[in-house]
Amino acid sequence: MEQPPTGTKIGLFFGSFNPVHVGHLIIANYMATRTDLREVWLVVSPHNPLKAKNTLAGDYDRLHLVQEAVAENPRLRASDIEFGLPRPSYTIDTLTYLKERYPEREFVLLMGGDTLPTLPKWKNYEVLLRDYEIYVYARPGIDPGPWKDQPRVRWFDEVPLLDISATYIRACIRQGESVRYMVTEPVLAYIEQSGLYRK
Ligand code: ATP
Repeated sequence: MEQPPTGTKIGLFFGSFNPVHVGHLIIANYMATRTDLREVWLVVSPHNPLKAKNTLAGDYDRLHLVQEAVAENPRLRASDIEFGLPRPSYTIDTLTYLKERYPEREFVLLMGGDTLPTLPKWKNYEVLLRDYEIYVYARPGIDPGPWKDQPRVRWFDEVPLLDISATYIRACIRQGESVRYMVTEPVLAYIEQSGLYRK
């Protein structure tokens, strides 16, 4: 792989992507093209053995969907980095691992304004806030209070958001309703052909 210049910033967008939808892609692409980030990696969270979530499609199916969704966009990448790490995976451990593996890159966390106030529950969150920048997209009706003013938090007010979720998409598929335009065409094709989320 071609080596990027020192300091190349990579945004990490973590999610279960069950499945990845255009709401995710709009945020990822905005951050990858409208900020100083060079790329955004969509980091697929593997199944957490502590959570019995039977609606979660297999790790490799979800990874494949993300790969299909971003294939045409050189600024976006699917990442399976957490598949090889101990589970459950903690963001700080994943970041530490990435920093060792790609010392020439700088990793930035992406999250919604609703997630920001949950940070104190995260493993080693003080280290996370000290060592990493966090780019936050505003979500309607959410006021993260003093979190917004943390020195390493950058706030983005104008990221276009869609009011859809993977939960809603799965429910549509289960009921035989169309999810066209909520996911990209290759994602739709794979879901239909594989029968994912039908029951
Ligand atoms: P689910 O409905 O299964 O919980 P989701 O659509 O919220 O899934 P995740 O894979 O959990 O998808 O999403 C990854 C991240 O993207 C999460 O932090 C989530 O809050 C955020 N996100 C998901 N959908 C949207 C959306 N429509 N607008 C803004 N942020 C979103």
